[in-house]
Amino acid sequence: MKRQINEMKVVFPSLSHNERFARIAVSGFVSFIDPKVDELADIKTAVSEAVTNCIVHAYPDAVGKIELCVKVFEDNTITIRISDKGCGIADIGKAMQPLFTTRPDEDRAGLGFAVMESFMDKVRVKSSVGKGTTVTLTKSVTVRSEQ
Ligand code: ATP
Ligand code: MG
Repeated sequence: MKRQINEMKVVFPSLSHNERFARIAVSGFVSFIDPKVDELADIKTAVSEAVTNCIVHAYPDAVGKIELCVKVFEDNTITIRISDKGCGIADIGKAMQPLFTTRPDEDRAGLGFAVMESFMDKVRVKSSVGKGTTVTLTKSVTVRSEQ
């Protein structure tokens, strides 16, 4: 099994300004392996989509907790887990289809999962209605010093 070389976990409330915090926190944490700039940008965008979903959908009328966990492995693979204890997703397959949204009224395009899937190598979603959702994003990055 590949060896894990670094790990961090942070918990923050689902306030809209914390989307920015999450994006910068992940980027700062993985910077020690010096990923290519465009790959880092992809990771930040995917994290932003997942965290925004927690803020907008998981806790629509309240402020709840979002947990962000990042792991870096020696083969330069990064896994990012974003969890909430919000409303959950009834049909994950449907939710992940491009252009599907339960919030068309709020100018949502239904593209968040599609963006995560195109920018990351793997997107895994686990959810339970009334209990919450966990999105795990995986990406293998190119380290600039090894190019
Ligand atoms: P966009 O991301 O383009 O603004 P969107 O958020 O509706 O629109 P997706 O991010 O693809 O699109 O999510 C699709 C649907 O999955 C959402 O409309 C919502 O119903 C559901 N969903 C996604 N994440 C969560 C979550 N953490 N908790 C509950 N429901 C979620
Ligand atoms: Mg979204």
